[in-house]
Amino acid sequence: MIVPCIRCLNPSQQPVDLHLRDEFHSKIEVTTGAPLPKPDDEDPFFIDDNHLVDIEELLREYALLALPMQTFCKPDCKGLCPNCGADLNAGECDCQLDEGDDRFDVLKRLLG
Ligand SMILES: [Zn+2]
Ligand SMILES: [Zn+2]
Repeated sequence: MIVPCIRCLNPSQQPVDLHLRDEFHSKIEVTTGAPLPKPDDEDPFFIDDNHLVDIEELLREYALLALPMQTFCKPDCKGLCPNCGADLNAGECDCQLDEGDDRFDVLKRLLG
């Protein structure tokens, strides 16, 4: 599945491990054509009137659940320059940014 990297917005290929297990309900009794009672499921999937199963919606739901919350194109993605928007993976830009990291500031203060 291709999703944008949250740092640089480049497309990143994410492995999605899907374990599909869901029930498809028939709306009618196949042999008699009599309507069947609604299933107890909260959001049931139905077999359509042509007796076809549309798994597109099912796949989409599962894929969204299976995707990691943070998607990077690579673990050490440098992301985009917050100033000029250049893709820092492609090389440094010309901005002179003081990349102050709060955590290091605290350390520096502690060390006096
Ligand atoms: Zn990236
Ligand atoms: Zn820049």
